[in-house]
This record gives sequence, structure tokens and C-alpha cells, in this order.
Amino acid sequence: MRSCEDRIYLDNAATTAVYEEVFDAMRPYFCGVYGNPSSQHAFGRAAAEAVTRSRDKMAVALNIYPDELYFTGCGTEADNLGIKGIALANADRGRHVAVSAIEHPAVLNSAAYLAANGFKVDYVFPDSRGVVTAQAVKKVMRGDTVLVAVMSANNETGVIQPVGEIYDVVRSGGAFLWCDCVQSAGVLPMSMFPCDGFALSAHKFGGPKGVGAACIKRGVRFAAQMSGGHQERGMRGGTLNVPGIVGMARALELSIERSAACASSAAALRDEFESLVLGGIEGASLNGGADRLAGHSNISFSGCDGQNIVMLLDMRGVAASAGAACAAGASSPSHVIKAMGADEGRVRSAVRFSFGAGNTRDDVAAAYAALKEVVAAIRRAN
Ligand code: PLP
Repeated sequence: MRSCEDRIYLDNAATTAVYEEVFDAMRPYFCGVYGNPSSQHAFGRAAAEAVTRSRDKMAVALNIYPDELYFTGCGTEADNLGIKGIALANADRGRHVAVSAIEHPAVLNSAAYLAANGFKVDYVFPDSRGVVTAQAVKKVMRGDTVLVAVMSANNETGVIQPVGEIYDVVRSGGAFLWCDCVQSAGVLPMSMFPCDGFALSAHKFGGPKGVGAACIKRGVRFAAQMSGGHQERGMRGGTLNVPGIVGMARALELSIERSAACASSAAALRDEFESLVLGGIEGASLNGGADRLAGHSNISFSGCDGQNIVMLLDMRGVAASAGAACAAGASSPSHVIKAMGADEGRVRSAVRFSFGAGNTRDDVAAAYAALKEVVAAIRRAN
């Protein structure tokens, strides 16, 4: 098997490499400062201090109060805590929930859990550009709507959602807005996404896997979703992942510091790639025409299957992705592109390429050449 070093990684929306500085910041908390942050003794206090410092840094970076942050094991857990936790704790105010149809499974399946537990759930569909408008949200809101969930930016298309306008509608309807900020955290400022609570995940912005956070604003009631100890003010039991939290805080600082430079280089590479692909491969069409995250490119190839494209690209050393990962570890055709009203062929043939800090113009040229070959081979075989 070829090593990853000589491969081209165009899947930065799935996960990112850990920044060297982040790895260095985490290292002392594995073998040196290894105490349990809940312990009373000096070992525990040293670890707890590191958690407090990290919480404070993240609060500054996210423009929130430190006590609004609840550390979790991943973005998925943060979405579960926010969506189930807020809806269940406020069920006396209403049992109607609205979620956008283009959410990550962490949100869609949390909503499905609520639907199985006495809530009515409605889905808000995007327009053909992949935008969930405030008007569309308004249409599904009811007198008993307690929670609305719309993500900051979509993980498949990168399309940025008008969260500020949506928040106005949700607030005037007396509901709470949950925003999955997993794709935008560290990349775009939180001021673009006003809401009552949001999720983030360290591995999307140069931090380690297996650590995330839910921010739930002061005054918003929510119910703990983990039965356990008193950690995180009794709202998320479980020993804190100290190295992970230290790494997440450092990664957030670094990614914000570097966000402008990273976005302009990723966007330049993405645009160059798109102009080659859309101009040079017949039957290629871009999914998601609105304002997008800098590195995302989602393209359909008529007459092809996205899974085959991804598999054959992988054999040529290029990593991309298609559809949404399902429980079996296989992929299913994208519910996002489908929700945008695309026909079945376009949905089945969608592939996501996501550019990031480690990519170069050589990657663009090589990935384009491989893609052209792969698409031609699949069409010949068909
Ligand atoms: N939400 C979005 C938009 C994502 O892209 C992801 C991960 O792909 C998640 C939630 C889940 O995050 P995690 O992998 O940390 O569970």
C-alpha cells in the first residue's frame, strides 16, 4: 500500500491533520501532567488548571462565557447534548422541533430520537443553491415550536447558511436555535452565526479527534444526556480528556489566527480545480451555487457513480469523498444534494473535494488529471 505522504488529500472537510504546535501543546498532558482533573490533590489540580486555561481561551476565541462551554467526546455528542437536551428540558413549552433537511446525521438522528419520544419534527428544505432561507424556516414554525436546528455551513457543499436572519425568525417565534458549527468553527467568526447554542469538533480545525464542545448560552435550560458524574457542572459526566481539550483550545487559537491566509489559499486552489474540471470534463456540474466555505467543492459527473469515482481516485492516490457515511461504514447517496432538488443521477454522482492548508497547485493539477481519467474510464465501462 502506498504511504499517505505521496498521496493527495482532498478530504479536509472529513478531518484535518493535527497542527505540530497543537501536538506539542498536548504532549505534557499524557505522561507528565496526567492527573484526573476532578481529583483534589496536586496532580488533579494541575490538570484542572490546564482545563480552565483552555476553557478561558476558547471562550475568548468564540466570544462566549467560559461557563457556557461543555466539553464532549466529539461534535456528534455536542449535537446530541444540545438538541435532545434543550428540547427535552423545555418540552413544557412545546413539543415541535424543526431541523433543516441538510444537517449532519448527528443532528438528523437526534431529531429522529425526539420524534420517537413524543415530539413532532418538521424538516426545512434548502433552495436549489443549498441555502435554507429564513422564510422557509418561518413557514414550518408553529406556536409550540421549541427548537430549530440549522447548521452554519454544510459539510458536503460548504454552503454558508443565513443564520442571523434565521435567528431573528426563531427568536420572534419564541423558540431556541441550535447551530451545528462543526464545519465553520475556527474558519469563520462566530459573530456570523448568532444562536442559543452550537457544536464544534476539534479535528475539523487542526485539533485531535475525539474531543468537541457544546456551547449552551446562559439561561437556556437543557437536560444532561450522559448519566454519570458531576463533571461539567453536572451536565456531562465523564473524566475530561485533558490533552484533547488543551489541543482543541490551541488549535482553535491557531486556526483563527491563520483563517484569512488559509481561506485565501484554499479558495484559490479550489477555484483553479473547479475551472479545470468544469471546463475540461464534459457533464460535470457544481452543486451548491451560493456563498461557500473556501475549500469545499461538490461536483456531479453525469453517467457516473460517485462511489466509483472515489474508489478509483483512491487507487490513483487521490482522497475525496462521496455522499454521507452511514452506519455500515459504506456510503449512501447524498441526502444533501437530494434535498436541494437534484435528480437521481446528479445525487448519485456527487463527489466532494475539500482543500486545506496542506494542498498545493501540483495537487490540483494531479487530482484533475486523475479525475479526468477516472470519469472517462467509468463512462467507457458503462
Ligand atoms: N456536524 C458536522 C457538520 C460534521 O461535518 C461532522 C463531522 O463530519 C459532525 C457534526 C460530527 O463531528 P464528529 O466527527 O466530531 O463527531
